[in-house]
Amino acid sequence: MVSFENTLSFAQKMDDADPLKNFRNQFHFPTFNDKPCCYLTGNSLGLQPKNTAKYITEELDAWAALGVEGHFMAKRPWYAYHENLTAYTAEIVGAKPIEVVVTHSLTTNIHLLMVSFYRPSGKRTKILCEAKAFPSDQYVLESQIKFHKLSLENLVEVHPREGEHLIRETDILAKIEELGEELALVMIGGVNYYTGQLFDMKKITEVGHSVGAIVGFDLAHAAGNINLKLHDWNIDFGAWCGYKYLNSSPGGVSGIFIHERHANKPELPRFAGWWGYNKESRFKMEPGFVPMPGAEGWQLSNAPIFGMAAHLAALELFHKAGMGQIGKKRDLLTAFLEFIIHDVSERNKEHCAFEIITPTDKRRRGSQLSILVHGKGKSLFDKLSAEGVLADWREPNVIRIAPVPLYNSFTDCYWFGQYLEKSIL
Ligand SMILES: *Cc1c(COP(=O)(O)O)cnc(C)c1O
Repeated sequence: MVSFENTLSFAQKMDDADPLKNFRNQFHFPTFNDKPCCYLTGNSLGLQPKNTAKYITEELDAWAALGVEGHFMAKRPWYAYHENLTAYTAEIVGAKPIEVVVTHSLTTNIHLLMVSFYRPSGKRTKILCEAKAFPSDQYVLESQIKFHKLSLENLVEVHPREGEHLIRETDILAKIEELGEELALVMIGGVNYYTGQLFDMKKITEVGHSVGAIVGFDLAHAAGNINLKLHDWNIDFGAWCGYKYLNSSPGGVSGIFIHERHANKPELPRFAGWWGYNKESRFKMEPGFVPMPGAEGWQLSNAPIFGMAAHLAALELFHKAGMGQIGKKRDLLTAFLEFIIHDVSERNKEHCAFEIITPTDKRRRGSQLSILVHGKGKSLFDKLSAEGVLADWREPNVIRIAPVPLYNSFTDCYWFGQYLEKSIL
């Protein structure tokens, strides 16, 4: 364990020794008063890779030069563009290529997956989720339950205990056991967007399966952040967006995972479209849906090429850096930022109290730290913004920050501490 110091020279020394330090130059940084800002909100919107413009321009040029022929004649033919993303995606989430595809947007994908995997019948009707799930997920779950003409009592939330911020995993597991044969589906955010808590997906899946339930995860805050092993953990399905840790443009494309054991089940109910049709005979345009094996069989539409191009530019960087290195730096960088916050907090106790509600155990979190600010939270946040810190404020009193290993530096964390201290006083 490195012994940290809250000094600029220490932070610079850490940056010099960082094997990923050159990746920072591959991204555009927003500026503030003509200086790069202190960007700590890659968990909301990842920065733009410098190659993104090139990749999108190539497709604009292909469209201009080839028109419809671009589907087959572009350098990366559009009809198969999503295939360029599959191997990289599989690498990032720990999947086999047949288990993943990039398509649509996140909330759309969760709905499509639930059509297939939430099949209430008889006594088995309930969905278990975490309290304070991301709002879109809450609406998905509610509306899916209503779609099956069931009451909202079928949505069971596991809450943190009184006076606690995090959900105890043992409480989730106990609830799964308790619901037993009434439980149709466990659907949880792999990393909670508010607290940054990472759940033990392997264990939850194991226990969910032991009572006969299907287990899926929303991985919006996990993909590109956590070292996922979706195949080995045996989860049934998952989905994530491309624009948070994966840097693939605002509102960009989403990835889905469907475990191999569901790959060849054409009988699984699904909402179908022509892009999920077996590609060997797709263009014969015959009636009667025959799905592609694996995740590709859940595609509906031909791919939005510009969003896919932005995703490709970003995924190449992840492939070059490797999730192994990314994970190592993530833990070190997050621990350093945590140390800085504690140091500032210790020395300014009489003015302001901070509490980091994210787990301290690095196996239970990723990059994000959620800071509960007692007292003057919003005015502190506003002062930080006025110093050029881009972070995220959540009512009533939480500041979320995430030092992202691909482009944030130890020096960023140091400066955050300096601005934080200045903002307290
Ligand atoms: C960001 C996020 C979303 C956003 O959904 P979109 O369909 O991409 O707008 C949904 N769920 C979670 C858990 C998120 O973190």
